[in-house]
Amino acid sequence: MSSSESDCESKPLKKKPRRMCVFLDNWLKKNTYSSWLQKSSESEAYCSLCRVTFTIKYEGFLALKKHQSSEKHKKGLSIVKQNKIMNSFFQLKIVQKQKILLALN
Ligand SMILES: [Zn+2]
Repeated sequence: MSSSESDCESKPLKKKPRRMCVFLDNWLKKNTYSSWLQKSSESEAYCSLCRVTFTIKYEGFLALKKHQSSEKHKKGLSIVKQNKIMNSFFQLKIVQKQKILLALN
């Protein structure tokens, strides 16, 4: 594996036309993307938030950034945040209920 394989954005154009980008596993390690990003194929990423697959073969990492800043994705992100708050709220209620039951017994 050569290092040139990991980055298509800064690759100089030589004999061949522009190389296609491939999905890099270390994108999944980035906190900003790990919550929604999944690898679909070598040239495609999947967003679990929007439930869409998009190609990264032309823009690579930039395609992730673009997707992340899309309106649809932002909307999805805010819904997830709301759900998280809701879930923790319900969990708290359950805990309180259990405490009450314990106290009654
Ligand atoms: Zn998305």
